[in-house]
Amino acid sequence: MPLGTLQDFKGKTAQDLFSDVVDRGLCTACGTCVAVCAQDCLVMEGEELSPGEALRARAVERCNACGMCYACCPGERVQMPELEERFLGSRTVTHEQLLGTYKDRYVAMAADGVMRTAGASGGTAAALQIYALEKGLIDGVLGVGYREDKPWVPVAVFSRTREEILATQGSKYTHCSVNDALRDLAKQKLRVAVVGLPCHIQGVRKVQAYLERTPLARSIAFTIGLFCAENRFTRGAEHIITRRLGVPLEDVARISYREGAYPGAFTVWDKEDQSYSIPYPDQLTFLWMHTRPRCRICYDYAAEVADISLGETQHLDKKMAHNAALVRTETGKEIFDGAVEEGYVVAQAVDEKFIFNHTGLERKKYANLMRIEWYRQHGLPTPDYPGASTRYDELPPFYFGPKR
Ligand SMILES: Cc1cc2nc3c(=O)[nH]c(=O)nc-3n(C[C@H](O)[C@H](O)[C@H](O)COP(=O)(O)OP(=O)(O)OC[C@H]3O[C@@H](n4cnc5c(N)ncnc54)[C@H](O)[C@@H]3O)c2cc1C
Ligand code: SF4
Ligand code: SF4
Ligand code: SF4
Repeated sequence: MPLGTLQDFKGKTAQDLFSDVVDRGLCTACGTCVAVCAQDCLVMEGEELSPGEALRARAVERCNACGMCYACCPGERVQMPELEERFLGSRTVTHEQLLGTYKDRYVAMAADGVMRTAGASGGTAAALQIYALEKGLIDGVLGVGYREDKPWVPVAVFSRTREEILATQGSKYTHCSVNDALRDLAKQKLRVAVVGLPCHIQGVRKVQAYLERTPLARSIAFTIGLFCAENRFTRGAEHIITRRLGVPLEDVARISYREGAYPGAFTVWDKEDQSYSIPYPDQLTFLWMHTRPRCRICYDYAAEVADISLGETQHLDKKMAHNAALVRTETGKEIFDGAVEEGYVVAQAVDEKFIFNHTGLERKKYANLMRIEWYRQHGLPTPDYPGASTRYDELPPFYFGPKR
């Protein structure tokens, strides 16, 4: 089914969203449907459950069959080439383009050393956000922090100051719905930059496509997409904290997924400020057990429809990570180039092989495509990517250039 217009979805109800997306295991839990529903029928509230679904019906009796949630949902269908053409100005033309289509590619990092080391992979995400804020391009950034009452559970936060942006640094390898928070921000007529995973950004692009003239779509100034191999249920972090580190959840004061020298260790501090940690490879083992099944059939690794996409690469110094950065749109270019010119970000143009230098790409574009094909052969639900090739046998050879 092509992108079409909102009119094509009139008559679709909350019930259709549940039966076609959620009940078939295709919900990414991005939160977009909650943000677009003017009747307030839906709510995200099951993040902590595993394998429970995060999306819940709140008052579906109020549903007026407007179809907006269904249209903007990236769970069951994402028309990647059409979204690329519309927002990026060109589409991925060959299956060799594992990173999607883009204008410029760089290895980058925050110019500020503290921001760089506090960052998941170089701090470019924070530096770009702070640049946009300090230049008055946005009122704030929608990103992800931790809940105060449960400091191991991620929560969407809106940052209006440099300090608040810095407080969101670091990757939370646990799911957070993010986009549901857009509704309240739009009501306040704020200009918002959204930082999110590929499924969050797909939801944002669908809002911009179908609800173009609404305050919600207009509130979005630009998007920073994070590369994403997969994400996990909250139970993953809880498993490590309680079973591997022996810390009761009620004693947790704060956590970090990547503390200390690269690649960093999963670390928990208790209320006495005593820390406990396990090395990064062990953390991955336990988190992988709790990967959301929907992530295993997801096709978008490099946030292919974001304005700027950021991931991790090892290029200049094997002891620390740097950002892989793809600038995809004119808006993205203005922000990225501006941040470099004004000394917020340091960037070096590189060959594509330096962006390919991460196993996440292989997990997404090879293992997931193989799984999608297997699911389809066996009649199991998979997301639909109309116009994009998801055929495993059409992938380029299994080699991307220099490894670590
Ligand atoms: C679940 C997950 C999987 C990832 N998988 C890969 C991968 O396979 N390969 C790869 O190269 N990179 C991956 N990344 C991206 C990488 O970890 C960094 O986020 C990215 O390189 C930006 O680093 P930075 O230092 O510039 O960010 P920072 O300056 O540290 O800023 C981090 C930003 O990420 C946002 N954020 C943190 N956690 C989440 C979350 N759960 N959902 C949405 N936004 C969040 C914060 O709001 C903040 O703005 C993943 C990130 C996440 C969250
Ligand atoms: S009112 Fe519209 S957006 Fe809300 S649940 Fe019903 S169809 Fe979806
Ligand atoms: S919009 Fe997002 S949260 Fe809502 S059903 Fe679709 S994938 Fe799930
Ligand atoms: S793999 Fe990443 S982008 Fe895909 S559904 Fe999971 S969290 Fe979203």
